[in-house]
Amino acid sequence: DRDSRQLGRPSPENGGGDAKNLRVKLVLLGDSGVGKSCIVLRFVRGQFDPTSKVTVGASFLSQTIALQDSTTVKFEIWDTAGQERYAALAPLYYRGAAVAVIAYDITSPESFSKAQYWVKELQKHGSPDIVMALVGNKADLQEKREVAVEDGMDYAEKNGMFFIETSAKTADNINELFEVSDNLFTIGQVPPYL
Ligand code: GDP
Repeated sequence: DRDSRQLGRPSPENGGGDAKNLRVKLVLLGDSGVGKSCIVLRFVRGQFDPTSKVTVGASFLSQTIALQDSTTVKFEIWDTAGQERYAALAPLYYRGAAVAVIAYDITSPESFSKAQYWVKELQKHGSPDIVMALVGNKADLQEKREVAVEDGMDYAEKNGMFFIETSAKTADNINELFEVSDNLFTIGQVPPYL
């Protein structure tokens, strides 16, 4: 995919020895408008650009992270751009996904319910060892908060998920979100996607 090659930063040269280059398919789920595209663009391009939204079709971006032991992890990030509505596409979307990021908007209880729906879907149809992260986005909108931090945290804990609140706008916890995934990877809980 040409776009992903252009957008993904080149991984460090593999000098041999113990160096490993790993690929992780990561799928993004959550209600429309919770900020999925903005989270990815913040992570991959380091900017907040609400106007560059993909409205039709799934978008695909990649980002490579270098770990301290010269391993590189290339995240292949799949953003549905609303196509999660079409049940027929779901198996294709989830197939081979090692990590699922399920996002909601902390100002929208409806989006929190929808996130719970996606968790159940993944528990039914995703790979049994998929790693799931629950993300409460728009954490910069504290004065409009309608989902308590504890509610997100409790739900994530009950479902064996990681939990983090982020802001794609201010960049708060965006890198930390993806570090969660690569830490997991290095301790061997996430099977490589090949
Ligand atoms: P998606 O449909 O889930 O991909 O959502 P988008 O990434 O297109 O974002 C939807 C809207 O939410 C846009 O207007 C963004 O400007 C806004 N948005 C996204 N992330 C944040 C955030 O962290 N804070 C605030 N205040 N707005 C955000």
